[in-house]
Amino acid sequence: MPNGTLHVYRDDLPEGLSLGSVVAVDTETMGLNPHRDRLCLVQMSGGDGHAHIVQLIPPERGGRGFDAPNLKRLMSDPAVTKLMHFGRFDVAVLQHSLGVTVAPVKCTKIAAKLVRTFTDKHGLKDLCKELLGVDLSKQQQTSDWGAMELTSDQLAYAASDVLYLHALWAKLEAILIRENRLELAESCFAFLPVRARLDLLGYEEPDLFAHRSR
Ligand code: MN
Repeated sequence: MPNGTLHVYRDDLPEGLSLGSVVAVDTETMGLNPHRDRLCLVQMSGGDGHAHIVQLIPPERGGRGFDAPNLKRLMSDPAVTKLMHFGRFDVAVLQHSLGVTVAPVKCTKIAAKLVRTFTDKHGLKDLCKELLGVDLSKQQQTSDWGAMELTSDQLAYAASDVLYLHALWAKLEAILIRENRLELAESCFAFLPVRARLDLLGYEEPDLFAHRSR
């Protein structure tokens, strides 16, 4: 599969690009707080080995900021499922930055946690190794995504986070069906955009659903 091509765009997806009805999506940001840390990259793949990376550049550096109509249309398109790993974070960041509701979504981490209850290893790297026999490098995970010129290592890492999600979902979906948890998974996915809104409003810690309020 990967050996695919890397397509890098500035400010938005190109007009008229279709990635199919299920698009793998990941983001890279300056950090883990969407209110503080800027969204830098949105990586996408239609599951064909090609990765499409949009670099979002702030206006003060000559970019269009989050004025990305094609990207916004895709993220909110009801006919396109956005496939993510730990979508709770990506959905929150995208909703906060782009101002659209990101839906419908599926999350391979939630799927894994629903059926792989014999382990606590639900990271993308662990799942790719276990279910696909693929070794993902996490070397660039904490690198500076705000740089104007990203290194080829950074871009390859960013791409690898979306290139395997379709294959991973196929494996996980089969297990969800086998274990009769697909409908529960789908209900969790449907709730993700709301969960992301709650996170952005500060209902993350303490969690709204927790018994204890502190
Ligand atoms: Mn990533």
